[in-house]
Amino acid sequence: MTTFSDLGLSQKVLSAVTDAGYTIPTPIQAGAIPPALERRDICGIAQTGTGKTASFVLPMLTLLEKGRARARMPRTLILEPTRELAAQVAENFEKYGKNHKLNIALLIGGVSFEEQDRKLERGADVLICTPGRLLDHCERGKLLMTGVEILVIDEADRMLDMGFIPDIERIAKMIPFTRQTLFFSATMPAEIQKLADRFLQNPVRVEVAKPSSTAKTVTQRIVASNVKDYEKRAVLRDLIKGEEEELKNAIIFCNRKKDVADLFRSLDRHGFSVGALHGDMDQRSRMTMLSNFKDGNLKLLVASDVAARGLDIPDVSHVFNFDLPVHSEDYVHRIGRTGRAGRSGKAFSLVTAKDTKFLDAIEKMIGEKIEWLNGDLTALPEPMESYDNDRQKRGRGGKDRDRAKGRDKNRRSNEATTEQPAAAAPATEQPAGETRVKSEQKTDRAPRHYDRQNNGDHANNDNRDRRRHYRDNDDGPTPVGFGDDIPAFMLIVANAKA
Ligand code: AMP
Repeated sequence: MTTFSDLGLSQKVLSAVTDAGYTIPTPIQAGAIPPALERRDICGIAQTGTGKTASFVLPMLTLLEKGRARARMPRTLILEPTRELAAQVAENFEKYGKNHKLNIALLIGGVSFEEQDRKLERGADVLICTPGRLLDHCERGKLLMTGVEILVIDEADRMLDMGFIPDIERIAKMIPFTRQTLFFSATMPAEIQKLADRFLQNPVRVEVAKPSSTAKTVTQRIVASNVKDYEKRAVLRDLIKGEEEELKNAIIFCNRKKDVADLFRSLDRHGFSVGALHGDMDQRSRMTMLSNFKDGNLKLLVASDVAARGLDIPDVSHVFNFDLPVHSEDYVHRIGRTGRAGRSGKAFSLVTAKDTKFLDAIEKMIGEKIEWLNGDLTALPEPMESYDNDRQKRGRGGKDRDRAKGRDKNRRSNEATTEQPAAAAPATEQPAGETRVKSEQKTDRAPRHYDRQNNGDHANNDNRDRRRHYRDNDDGPTPVGFGDDIPAFMLIVANAKA
């Protein structure tokens, strides 16, 4: 069996890998590291969760041992589609590069230019960027790309989805033709293959898992629910409680950011240890929420696809799909958050009568039928009578609302607390003397503005806007309460790297 010491990595790198507790390289690492060390171009087809990051970080560290950085002339450049992914790559450099004295600069949106300028001035060995912020620095005349020896284009299919390809092409043109290029994508449709052909010279192709296959280590179940959100919330609570013994931590996915906020508030009121991530939260709040979850301060994390895409949370025991995703490839991405690096995981998806066509598409894509947990949709009890229906019948006034509430109290005992006015939500209660962190983003929901905020990058390309809106806008009104204001007590671990 191949071990890390067979791959040609330097002693400094090997000792950091040993300290990280890894002995056996994953298939993408075994396949990509040796040719990368020979300065060959790589076309890697691998999803997050396969050990892909180390497959480029480890050879880069070894190659960087020769030579040193000059001011404003980075030696290597890594392009990532999102700030979170960029920050995760930076963390990998810290972990595996602890025996090196390298300058790592993270250039992402939402962070001041001055701080980033200072790092560049000192000379960066490794520059990790989202494309727009890098171009901003180039336009300010603060960066010279002519010294870049290695270019990494990570998550190319996501870059395409998000409309970043024109930016990548501009960046690639600034870098000498003699560079080494490492190109990674989870899938390889024709459009991505064309890009790879343009960026790479005689690459070594390393493919580790068929695109769209689901990890064998994940136990998947579908769970029938009635359509209304309050009924789905009750089903979800029962599921979480039923899994209590095995549940270490879980990500719960919703399709829209409004539902992320609603579900977060509901679970919080029901006493669960829960946080939330959605596209309207500012960068600092997102990073801090994530590190609270990673450190085990929060057990559950409610998230939208946009906010959670590509996050590296190594040992999530459970994934719950509160909503079945509309795009079946999102199902694969979501359940890929669990069962990573050979661990076992469980994925439960709520399915209502409205979701059957999405379920069919998912089962077609993954090539298997998913088992029902407690019987299919025909086994469901009658829907609970909804508070909303009652309210519509009786009018919308506050008194009617209160009366309807009183009358329905017993019937709705399951969900009684979730229908309180927003003002009663714990997320809006502020402990005395604590300051609040105000989100940068308010209520402008135009796709262009939305993406500028989330990716910190230019959004001056119509094609990009269209593409982004298609996959990356967790549509719906901006959430109130938690959406705009994060209480300071939720942000206690403020070690965001950005
Ligand atoms: P990635 O695909 O880069 O997001 O990595 C997924 C997870 O696998 C990360 O938490 C890594 O720390 C972990 N990992 C990376 N390499 C190995 C390895 N050789 N053995 C076990 N786990 C690994």
